[in-house]
Amino acid sequence: MNVFLQTPIEYLKGVGPQRAEILKKELGIRTFEDLLFYFPFRYINRSQYQTISELPYLDSYAQIKGRIIQISETPVGKQSRLTAKFQDQTGMIDLVWFQGAKWIKPMLKIGTEYQIFGKAKIFGSSWNIPHPEIVELERVKNEVGFQPIYSSSEKLGMKGFSSKGIEKITKALAEQIRGKIPENLPNELLRDFHLISREEALFQIHCPSNEQIVHSARTRLKFEELFFLQLEMLMRKQISMSKTKGHIFKEVGEHFTKFYDHHLPFELTNAQKRVLKEIRKDFMTGHHMNRLLQGDVGSGKTLVALLTMLFGIGNGFQAALMAPTEILANQHFITIKDFLKEMNVNVELLTGSVKKKDRKGIHERLENGETQILIGTHALLEDVVKFQNLGIVVIDEQHRFGVAQRAKLWKKNTIPPHVLVMTATPIPRTLAMTFYGDLDVSVIDELPPGRKPISTMHKFEASRLEVFGFMKREITLGRQVYIVYPLIKESESMDYNNLMDGYEAISRAFPLPNFRVSIVHGQMKAEDKEFEMQRFIKGETQIMVATTVIEVGVNVPNASIMIIESAERFGLSQLHQLRGRVGRGAEKSYCVLMTGIKLSKESKKRMETMVRTNDGFEIAEVDLELRGPGDIMGTQQSGELDLKIADLAKDGQLVSQAREYARKILQEDPFLELPKNHIVKEQLRKVMKAKPNWSQIS
Ligand code: ADP
Ligand code: MG
Repeated sequence: MNVFLQTPIEYLKGVGPQRAEILKKELGIRTFEDLLFYFPFRYINRSQYQTISELPYLDSYAQIKGRIIQISETPVGKQSRLTAKFQDQTGMIDLVWFQGAKWIKPMLKIGTEYQIFGKAKIFGSSWNIPHPEIVELERVKNEVGFQPIYSSSEKLGMKGFSSKGIEKITKALAEQIRGKIPENLPNELLRDFHLISREEALFQIHCPSNEQIVHSARTRLKFEELFFLQLEMLMRKQISMSKTKGHIFKEVGEHFTKFYDHHLPFELTNAQKRVLKEIRKDFMTGHHMNRLLQGDVGSGKTLVALLTMLFGIGNGFQAALMAPTEILANQHFITIKDFLKEMNVNVELLTGSVKKKDRKGIHERLENGETQILIGTHALLEDVVKFQNLGIVVIDEQHRFGVAQRAKLWKKNTIPPHVLVMTATPIPRTLAMTFYGDLDVSVIDELPPGRKPISTMHKFEASRLEVFGFMKREITLGRQVYIVYPLIKESESMDYNNLMDGYEAISRAFPLPNFRVSIVHGQMKAEDKEFEMQRFIKGETQIMVATTVIEVGVNVPNASIMIIESAERFGLSQLHQLRGRVGRGAEKSYCVLMTGIKLSKESKKRMETMVRTNDGFEIAEVDLELRGPGDIMGTQQSGELDLKIADLAKDGQLVSQAREYARKILQEDPFLELPKNHIVKEQLRKVMKAKPNWSQIS
């Protein structure tokens, strides 16, 4: 333990017991270390001035110089508001004080040149800087240079911990750290990646003199954070590999062979074959398989899942396939039953809506081993669901299962079943490495042959007639069309009305007897939905008006046009999923994104991205850039990480480098026993101890 770093914060000069309490409560800062790791989120270059005419609007810090030309005071309740008109050679802005007018007014001098620093804001119709820092230009000290800005709140500000207040105590602490911060990265690594020392970084991040040194400090600290995260993941994987025995599937098995040789409806793509080889290899090692299968929409993951399960049952084990929603579980059940129709394999479905009286039978057949493949939702995880001999679980997920849930599966057999996790759409590489860093990764990077790329267009409301004309032409050629409306919450009446209005408008524009329109949405009864779906599948209707209930699992190869209404309201991966509903047959397919004229910058980027590319991996990267990891992985999973400085959306390269290096170190020294790795081991222990619930998993 480092005595200096662990010193309680109250002993820092200028803090004391009372203020320490505030830091603890509001910011979780208890020790010197905590304060040093409370990093500025940005810096202001105080050696430069902006002119008033180039000031950014709203809420961004600015430094200007000029003169006060007029001062006025307006009573507001018991207080009064002080306003000073401030001018430079390019324009004018108000400096405003809502409190303390009495003290400040006498100090302001008309005509004297001042340096002003603060946040420009719009207040009513006037543009001003409330409560600025104001210093006579003559007295400005040059030493400020680069000023760190810390995140604070109004409440903290009132108690003396505005950004400035935090800066003050942090500076005082940073001045004392020389010789007290031990390094925790190997020398070799520092040298290879040109990283500055830990001590230097912790000093410079709080007291930098220029932008370059800020960059060096941040890079060093990001690297450290990512490196230990990756090391932890790899270590975890290593421990589970060595400790956890896995079932050995010795044979390819008769089920696999029979299906492969006689009932495979099409030649596997090379990517599918490669992935199956990787999986088969895992099954032979005697270790437990924990593998992530990444593949774009339509790349044929289901078939890989099925063949993987056939390996298992051919070796005398049971298999399970778990999906995130009932619709998807149902769809898998139908697809897999169909694939296996010539084979003698018992497949069952278990979801939340299976009737109680049917459940008993399902449970029994599972326990006595009659059922060979069980398909279902989360319901599979329940304790009452017991297998006779579960050997392999496939999870088809939309990033919804965390480490903890995956761990639950392990208990379904004395030797835990092998686990294959499939993504619905690709996850950006950095996120996969970080959130699934304890898994091996396989990628299907090839679509089945004969797929024609889908042409995507972005159209505004004004082009609706043109779009209808296009639909008519295609329908006349024998094609079918989806029109999807956003119904994010199925209960929202406005969305529901839009959907119904749309349905009516389309029914009018595409009248009987030449055209027939189906509709499917979440408020319909299951059997009505099914009926409408079937009419569309059989080609009895040409247009399917629907909500996102068709997002996953629907497969109608003759449908070649996907129209997405209010497309700006959908996220990128959802748009990509929806688009994946077409382009499944032999015909050239189209996707039309309909939006309003006014689009946010982000929506525009989403539309542009969709129009530009069909590549799910590329789309995933843009999605990460736009939304950040929290929204993609779900806040719960992101919360598990709690990164202080690294940004998974922006630091992809550092993530890869950190992972590579972590791997290199463990390859040479799996248990970190070499003297040169002692410092690393120490820090890793500290990191892993802070997450007690994780340690049970591996
Ligand atoms: P996803 O990866 O999105 O789950 P699916 O497994 O649903 O994709 O496959 C999409 C479609 O491609 C399905 O209709 C499936 O039968 C078909 N398919 C899968 N593999 C091949 C292949 N090797 N050749 C031709 N079609 C294939
Ligand atoms: Mg799928």
